[in-house]
Order: sequence, then structure tokens, then C-alpha cells
Amino acid sequence: MLNHNNTLIAYLTVLLIFIISGALSSTAGIVIISIITLFFVSLLATASARIQMNFFIKAVNNGSREKATVTLTFDDGPDRNITPQILEILEKHNIKATFFCIGEKIEQNRDILKMISDKGHTIGNHSWSHSVFFDFYLPGRMAGEIEKTDRLIKEITGKNVVFFRPPFGVTNPFLAGALKKTGHTVIGWSLRTFDTVKDKERILKKIETKVADGDILLFHDTVPQTVELLEKSIEIIKNKGMEIVGLEGLIV
Ligand SMILES: [Zn+2]
Repeated sequence: MLNHNNTLIAYLTVLLIFIISGALSSTAGIVIISIITLFFVSLLATASARIQMNFFIKAVNNGSREKATVTLTFDDGPDRNITPQILEILEKHNIKATFFCIGEKIEQNRDILKMISDKGHTIGNHSWSHSVFFDFYLPGRMAGEIEKTDRLIKEITGKNVVFFRPPFGVTNPFLAGALKKTGHTVIGWSLRTFDTVKDKERILKKIETKVADGDILLFHDTVPQTVELLEKSIEIIKNKGMEIVGLEGLIV
């Protein structure tokens, strides 16, 4: 399977062959290596943005496709207003979910994080800052952010954090280095609802037509719309005969 190491080795081998054979002294040789380089760079950019490719990091993007179970995940909280409303709906349906929380938001909403934990949901790490520059940080700085968030979650809930979801789902060699140090299991997703940008009807239609056995669904507990569409989403999934389980139950 394509990954960062074997692709890099293949590219460097081709480059070396071109140099040794003297092919770079011809215009045709330069054009060909330029095309190969462009393809290589495009592949790196695409792989960074698509966690499901498992290119830089091996992530869990879905559970078994053989079992009629799915799981719900909520990113970017805890939010003082939205998260408690999400928790109420989940409790009503006796559903356990996973919340990938941001350290800076946890600091402002310690009681909400405690509430998530006390209700039996799983808390995952989603970095400290969720900065747009996070992917440009060196591995040491990334690991520092991740560990700082882990410490705060442990301080508030008493629980160790096992799961990490990269901010924006972006992966790269620096993050791979950071995670080697922190040792988290990386969780991606297989069904993204785009609940922060798309309208409710489109999202529900997508769930209705796309949800499949083993899916990890991605929501955000930061937008009012998610509260509105959660109840209906649960109904759609249950009507398809699927059970909504916790992340641990889906991926074991
Ligand atoms: Zn996020």
C-alpha cells in the first residue's frame, strides 16, 4: 500500500537513476522528472488532507464492515451552550459517543468536560490550540500540545486519554513524529457530515443515503444546527437496523 516511506524511496530512486544515467542533461529528461516531481508533490498534498489514505499515519477510520454498528464523534468542544444539549439527546437515547476536545476550550469549560466524562462518554484529544498553523509545528511542539491537553483531561476526569484526532484531519511527517512520542491511537472518520457548513436537509440526506456498517460519523458540538439534526440522524440510523455503539465497541 502507498505510504510516505515507500513513496519517498521510489521517488528518490527514480531521481537517482535520472542523475546517474545522465538523463537530466536532455530537455526530455528534465520534463519527465519535472512531471514525476509534480505528481509526487501532489500526492503528498492530497495525502496530508486525507487521513483515510493512512499515508503518513495509520489511523482508524471505521470499524468492522461486517457488523451493523456505527459510532458518533463530536469535535472542537467542549462548548458551554451546545455540548450539554448534545449530551441530553444522547442520554435520552442511551447512546455513548466520543468527544474530541480542544485543550484551550477545556480550560474555559472544565465543568462541561467533567459532565461528558461523568455521563460515560469517551474523551479524545484534539490538540491544545487547534491552530491553523498546527501542521507547520515541529514534532516536539506538537507533542507538547497533545500532552498538555492529556494532562488537563486527566486532572479533570481522572482518566487517561487513548485517542487523538488531528486538527482538520491533516496528517504529515511532523505529526507522525509527535505521535510516536505520545503513543495515541489516531481516529479518523468514514462519514463526514460537514455540519458546520452544509444545511440540515443536505446532511440528513447524506446520512440517509451514505451511512454504512462500521462508519465513524463526524459531527461538531459547536454549532446549534448539530443539536437540531442529531435526533433525526439517530432515528435514520436506527431505522436502518444499525446499532450506535461507543468507539471502543466499534473498533475492537
Ligand atoms: Zn477540529
